[in-house]
Amino acid sequence: MSGVNEIRSAFLDYFAKAGHEIVPSSPLVPRNDPTLMFANSGMVQFKNLFTGVEKRAYQRASTAQKCVRAGGKHNDLDNVGYTARHHTFFEMLGNFSFGDYFKDRAIELAWNLVTREFGLPADRLTVTVYSEDDEALGLWKKIAGLPEDRIIRISTSDNFWQMGDTGPCGPCSEIFFDHGDHIWGGPPGSPEADGDRFIEIWNLVFMQFEQFADGTRTRLPKPSIDTGMGLERVAAVLQGVHDNYDIDLFKALIRASVELTGVAAEGDARASHRVIADHLRATSFLIADGVLPSNEGRGYVLRRIMRRAMRHAHLLGARDPVLYRLVPTLVGEMGRAYPELGRAEALVTETLRLEETRFRRTLERGLGLLEEATEGFRPGDMLDGETAFKLYDTFGFPLDLTQDALRRRDIHVNIDGFQDAMARQRAEARANWAGTGEAASEAIWFGIKERVGATEFLGYDTETAEGVV
Ligand code: ATP
Ligand code: MG
Ligand code: MG
Ligand code: MG
Repeated sequence: MSGVNEIRSAFLDYFAKAGHEIVPSSPLVPRNDPTLMFANSGMVQFKNLFTGVEKRAYQRASTAQKCVRAGGKHNDLDNVGYTARHHTFFEMLGNFSFGDYFKDRAIELAWNLVTREFGLPADRLTVTVYSEDDEALGLWKKIAGLPEDRIIRISTSDNFWQMGDTGPCGPCSEIFFDHGDHIWGGPPGSPEADGDRFIEIWNLVFMQFEQFADGTRTRLPKPSIDTGMGLERVAAVLQGVHDNYDIDLFKALIRASVELTGVAAEGDARASHRVIADHLRATSFLIADGVLPSNEGRGYVLRRIMRRAMRHAHLLGARDPVLYRLVPTLVGEMGRAYPELGRAEALVTETLRLEETRFRRTLERGLGLLEEATEGFRPGDMLDGETAFKLYDTFGFPLDLTQDALRRRDIHVNIDGFQDAMARQRAEARANWAGTGEAASEAIWFGIKERVGATEFLGYDTETAEGVV
């Protein structure tokens, strides 16, 4: 059985042998795109190669890319702990062709890797193609010998990728593994597709068109390939487990979390341990790449992730900071592949410890208030926005933390009410400051408040370019 570290190496070796340059992961904070919050797919660092703005010595590359999907268009934060397949931080394995090989070779390389190198049984695999992509459908039949009922045409944007409103775009093909009929779910495109039985492991993007602002689309003279395979998902398949959180890496993290808290990963505690393990990774990798907790932008996303994990540690009964004590286990598991993690170990530990110590003071009081405010609530009820805002403003509860805390009881938060309360507070603050003669400090204060408001609640939905969708 191969561990995560071996699978990553096997993937990269395979593509190195097939003439690909092995390129290191780019940092989570994109250097070349200020509008993108975090690297969320392998192609992010290669954007300029796909558009032709930049040329490099190689035309084929392969990477294991650090990704975070916890804000902006790709936000998997709410899925963590509740689906078998989502993380906030994960590694995306990819192979790329910049105007070199195209669809036939990409499908052949992918099929041979999963069935020969990795030895997955072909009868457990199902693929999707974009509804209009007869070429891909024909290639899957020819190369993989898949019967027609396991090549599913999908007509939604899920299977048509676009870099942005303009620029390279094209159809996608996704490879799914069937974990078996003991798990609820159906094949892609079916009514039960949102279950976890068929899990998408690999996404191939065929960039064959260029989209223009006037709505027209032309064929690219040299089409390109962009693929993304979730390392944790393929590791689950190869290790014979259904759930990403049961792979070697997560087992080690969860074991450490169980030991520290003394609570077994069973029943409701299972989701908490998963959230802790997942958020520990996201937190540590973000700090190692230079993000620090703050009240705006990237730093606020980090803070939300940290505080959310802390609430789960609290749920497990931990009354002293615990997350920082899990850092050595993570460094032990992933430090070889990502030396920056080891280099940042002291900073990660200290940042976590400080944030945990600080937040602990208000966490308990905030949870007490939340309990009082929702006493007698039934499933389907709604918490008023005022209270959610008070939790945010006075107790430092990010909105999603409050939502997460009420999730098990199926209580929702009145988001409009929350935003109204925030707007009202801002207007009141403005009125109170008027006429004090402290124009300078007022300007600074509103500057901060405005920025905080804008980035916290709208997120970065100005993202212009997305990774594999
Ligand atoms: P899903 O439909 O399951 O949410 P996706 O289509 O959004 O996945 P892509 O954008 O195609 O995912 O990313 C390429 C690959 O990266 C996926 O096939 C999957 O293996 C992996 N992946 C995507 N999101 C996550 C995540 N949140 N956690 C772990 N792996 C992920
Ligand atoms: Mg997704
Ligand atoms: Mg998908
Ligand atoms: Mg996909």
